[in-house]
Amino acid sequence: MSDDRRFLSLLTGSFSTPAGANPTVAMVEAAYRDLGLDARYINCDVAADHLGAAVRGALAMGWAGFNCSLPHKVTVIEHLDGLGASAELIGAVNCVVVREDRLIGENTDGQGFLSSLRTVVDPAGRHLVLFGAGGAARAIAVEAALAGVARLTIVNRNVRHAEALAEVVNGRTSARAEVRAWDGPCRIPEDADIVVNATSIGLGDAQAQLAIDEETLREGLVVADVIPNPPRTALIRAAEARGCRVLDGVGMLVNQALVAIELWTGRKADAGVMRAALEQVL
Ligand code: NDP
Repeated sequence: MSDDRRFLSLLTGSFSTPAGANPTVAMVEAAYRDLGLDARYINCDVAADHLGAAVRGALAMGWAGFNCSLPHKVTVIEHLDGLGASAELIGAVNCVVVREDRLIGENTDGQGFLSSLRTVVDPAGRHLVLFGAGGAARAIAVEAALAGVARLTIVNRNVRHAEALAEVVNGRTSARAEVRAWDGPCRIPEDADIVVNATSIGLGDAQAQLAIDEETLREGLVVADVIPNPPRTALIRAAEARGCRVLDGVGMLVNQALVAIELWTGRKADAGVMRAALEQVL
């Protein structure tokens, strides 16, 4: 960090999160306060045709970095100077870090998910069943494969999206991925260790459930949901009732921000402080 920047507030933020009370802002600023950092996390709603100008503006104003949410996670790449290794495989960026005036794209979604997952199971050598093939699923599949998951079964409504993701996993990592069309209630394979919902089913709707055969959610299986709001999704409740070990999407949201804060500031934030701030807003 340059000397000049020491005398400025450290600015980070999010491009393209709708304005208004924002859980990520509350969570990140609580972490900054707790760390005693003179820093702000600012929420900017950026239109697609102004993305390049906004990125250059962040650099011009001495920001330490920023998050990118939908719809900018892929298109932001053309405005950056380089990509971290997993962001390059994932093909999407949710976190940009300014390093010596260069804009480097990272993807902390998958790393955040893996940190949560590791609190209940070591993914190495496991069989992970992944519902979804969008941005969150790509991030999880790549990081899980890099963390040594042996097998991935990708279940998605649009089979072509699942095949494209399987191609990345099979071509660029040592994990083996296979694809299953999702055209009816899906039975969880008996040898599965981990099940992940990485679709948007459940976002803002506690009753929305994935088309799965709930009887195949067996005791001891690890079941994770990316949906942070509401955290107790229909999947989480059904899995808990059947004796599965469950992980909600709040843990992933906290952990992806923890990784981002460390990339921007070099400091490790307190996950408990961040979760509490988030839960107050959600
Ligand atoms: P995308 O739009 O990229 O992907 C959405 C995925 O959901 C696709 O696989 C899509 O299938 C599937 N899907 C959507 N609706 C249905 C449906 N009715 N039936 C079956 N499949 C469906 O979104 P993202 O991957 O970026 O985000 C997915 C979710 O992850 C969001 O709800 C987001 O909030 C959450 N998320 C959570 C994070 C956290 O930190 N907790 C971080 C990032 C994301 P198809 O390909 O067939 O269209």
